[in-house]
This record gives sequence, structure tokens and C-alpha cells, in this order.
Amino acid sequence: MDQDRSPGTQRIGILGGGQLARMLALAGIPLGIECIFLDPSVNACAASVGRLRQAGFADLDAARALAGEVDIATFDFENVPAGSARAMAALRPFHPAVAALEACQDRLLEKRLLAGLAIQTPEYRLVASRPDLLAAIDALGFPAVLKTRRLGYDGKGQAILQQPEDLEPAWQRLGDNELIVEAFIPFEAECSLLAVRDPRGQMRFWPLVHNVHENGILMLSRPGVFSVELQVQAEQIATRLLQHWHYIGVMTVEFFIRNGTLLVNEIAPRVHNSGHWTIDAAVTSQFENHLRAISGLPLGATAMTQPALMFNWIGQLPDKRQLLAIPGLHWHEYGKTARPGRKIGHATVTAPDQAELLHRALHIARNLGGNWPKLLAQMR
Ligand code: AMP
Repeated sequence: MDQDRSPGTQRIGILGGGQLARMLALAGIPLGIECIFLDPSVNACAASVGRLRQAGFADLDAARALAGEVDIATFDFENVPAGSARAMAALRPFHPAVAALEACQDRLLEKRLLAGLAIQTPEYRLVASRPDLLAAIDALGFPAVLKTRRLGYDGKGQAILQQPEDLEPAWQRLGDNELIVEAFIPFEAECSLLAVRDPRGQMRFWPLVHNVHENGILMLSRPGVFSVELQVQAEQIATRLLQHWHYIGVMTVEFFIRNGTLLVNEIAPRVHNSGHWTIDAAVTSQFENHLRAISGLPLGATAMTQPALMFNWIGQLPDKRQLLAIPGLHWHEYGKTARPGRKIGHATVTAPDQAELLHRALHIARNLGGNWPKLLAQMR
């Protein structure tokens, strides 16, 4: 043990140094957990709360060196190369398992796995050529969504196909990648379930979260607005996945709700933007329970402590001074440089009851202006 390490402190190595790593590290401090990050960016925002090893994600030597100085390893986003994850997993406990990471990196593997577990997804076809795309559209019809198999997130690497004229531009833009095309789901709502499993197989689930996106990016999240039936449906689906992988840590399942049933859109093998409200409005946050799970500590309760609604700050931060004057407003900025489309912070507004929550949220949305009132109107 190094001399500069206090007794009892656990060290966790995180592949990735973004805001998720930063919030994990913040949750770790009171638990006596110190986080060390590997990230290619010298400005990685987690660096303000822990040591950063600046290196490329594919740098196996750097991944092994990080593993060498920690007790346990994890990751904060799913596009880290599986090879680096495997290199770390050979040296230290690595959670969630590399198999879960790999399945979630590839939309095709993910869909096949879900089908194997009898979990419903939007219908899809594999597309390797222009003729494949035409055949897929013949089978699925318009509208449809063309997606890259790998490296897509926040609506990136996607094209919505409404009519025959959309096919060629979409192919020009994405055709160099391996692709799938999905039936477009005219969903009633989008929601996500945050789940956590520990090494003993104990599982806990937070209340389902209603999510509103704009251009593929999450804008608003509100927990606790769905029926018990839907919660049970979502928990059964998540349980099948958690047990299949002997999963350890937090996992997020994103769903479309269609005719009252759930279709899986995608799985994130990690803490998730739609779970940020848990910091301010759940007994135990997603970040704390992820750390508890991967380090073998008992899981904390996942109940909501008060009504909550999260606003995501994309591209620019609104006026903090004005918003902090609103009761129940919890401000989180990530210390990232503002850039269009970039997630740079969020705020969770809480209230003693749902009516007051909506009152406060409406006040915020009107203050923010732009598209916010319209987005909020889509929220349950
Ligand atoms: P994804 O990166 O696959 O989660 O997609 C980002 C967002 O695009 C989703 O949250 C939906 O709002 C929308 N989207 C993606 N796929 C579909 C689909 N098959 N049908 C309808 N909307 C979709």
C-alpha cells in the first residue's frame, strides 16, 4: 500500500473522465473511495475531483497501469475499446463485466441478445449495402431510423427516413459504417429504468423515469409518474438482463412506451443522465449505489424522497443566480467548456408535492424561454 493512501481507502479506476466519472467520484468521497480516471482529454472534467491519467482509451499500457494502482475498475461510457476493458479485467475486478459492455457497444449484438431473452425491441434489419437498405424499407416501411451499429449516442450516427428522397442523403452520410435500420416507433412516451445489482445477486430499481428528448438529446427527466404495472414490466425486463450477465453495478434500460407496453430502445451499462435526479431526490443516488455494488458494499434504498424533475443544460448554462432563487432548485455544472450540443450541466428541481413541482418547473421553463415550455408540455 502506498504511503500517501489513508488506511481503509479504496481506489477505483474509471475508464473515462467525463461528468459521469466526476459524479461517481463525488459520491465516493464520503464512502472513503478515491477515484482515478483515464481519459484522452487534458481538460477531462472529472480531473477536478481526482487524479487523471491522460492517455488514449486504446492505450493498453495506460489501461494496465491504471489497473495496477487501483483495487477495482469500472467505466463511465460504453464506447471505450473492449480491448482496454479486457486488459484491466485481467488484472483487477472490472465491473460491469466486459461481456455487457461489448453487447451494448453494438446495436446488432444488443438486439440479438434482447431477442434471445424474449425482450421486445423495435423491428430492425441489418444494412450492409444500398440494396439492403431498399429491401429493409420495403419490409419495415416509412418512417424508419437508420443507425450506425457502433459509436452512436445522443442521436449521433442516425438519420430519420420519412420518404424515398431521404435514402440517398442518409446513405451518403452514414454508408461508410455498419448500419441497422429500425422501424420508427410512434411512442406515447420514452422512459428509462435505472437498476443496480450487487455481487450477491441483490437487485434494486429506482422508479421509472419519463424522458423528453429534442434532436435525440435528453432534455427533461421526471421520475415517479408511471403506473405500478409499467414499473413491474420494466423491472422484469431489467432483471432478465442483470441475471443474464451476472451484472454488477448500475445498468440503465431505455424504453419506448407503445400501446401501454415497453419496447427496449437501448441499454446503457452504466449510470445515466436520466438518473441524475437521484442525487437530490432519492434515498441513495445512482452514483453511490454503483460504487457500493462494485466494491461489495450493501446497496442503499432506491425510493424517491420527494417529487423531482431534471433539466439538462446543453451547449450553454442558463443564469445560475436567477434559477438558484427558486426553492428546491439543485444546481450541477460540470466544469466543461460550452460547445453547441454538449452536455455541460443540469439542474434538478424538487418540491414537497407534484402540483408544486409542476408549478416550479413551469416557472423555470418560462424563465428559460426558447423551446423549454414546449418540452415541458410533453412531460407527464
Ligand atoms: P438512441 O441514440 O438510439 O437512444 O436515439 C436517441 C433518440 O432518438 C431516442 O431517445 C428517441 O427519441 C429517438 N429514436 C431513436 N430510435 C427511434 C425509433 N426507432 N423510433 C422513434 N424514435 C427513435
